[in-house]
Amino acid sequence: MPSKINLILNDFVALFFPNICIGCKGSLPNGMNHICPACQYDLPKTNNYKQEVPHIDQKLAGSIQFSHILAYLHFQKKGIVQHILHELKYNHKEDIGLMIGRWYGHDLLLGGFTNEFDMIIPVPLHSSKQRKRGYNQSEAFAKGLSEVLKAEVCLGLSRVAASETQTRKSRVERLENVKSIFEIVNASEIQGKRVLLVDDVITTGATLLACGNVLIEAGIKELSFAVIAATR
Ligand SMILES: [Zn+2]
Repeated sequence: MPSKINLILNDFVALFFPNICIGCKGSLPNGMNHICPACQYDLPKTNNYKQEVPHIDQKLAGSIQFSHILAYLHFQKKGIVQHILHELKYNHKEDIGLMIGRWYGHDLLLGGFTNEFDMIIPVPLHSSKQRKRGYNQSEAFAKGLSEVLKAEVCLGLSRVAASETQTRKSRVERLENVKSIFEIVNASEIQGKRVLLVDDVITTGATLLACGNVLIEAGIKELSFAVIAATR
């Protein structure tokens, strides 16, 4: 698997040259972190907050009632987005999530999302996984969005079961698998709120769907989704 080797190689290089760009591997200007200005400019944004991107917009259509589904970037295997997500999740780079959240927040703000959400709820990790990683990457993204969009982060969901690996299951099996693994922490703090539910990636949408259903059952007023990246 060349992509895996690439990722390992990246980690190895980063060990000796910590201040290089995740995208082009060039050295970063002073004061810049993780991604250089050129790679930031070239990020494969979906812009689906202002133009239709059917394969993203339709991912959850018909499955659940929601207002917005917002994806910052197109996921491409071996591309910069995969590297960003890898660094964020597996290389202790929590602050990448914060940075990406701020960048996307600014785009959304300019796009007119000035008062769309009352609170931002990250998809939770199972507590054992979060202990191991030290943070929840979706919460980092949520914090960045929150700073710009002025909606508070609420840790309103908990994951009560660790999900098994999803990759070898069919879509139906995956949906079944995630159905009962999320719980509301405190219903009274989310009731009547316009909630932006955030995760790092949307693939099938099964996780967002499961969380969204739990939130709606608990009595939120309106549901929207935001992710760092969406797959094809
Ligand atoms: Zn770069």
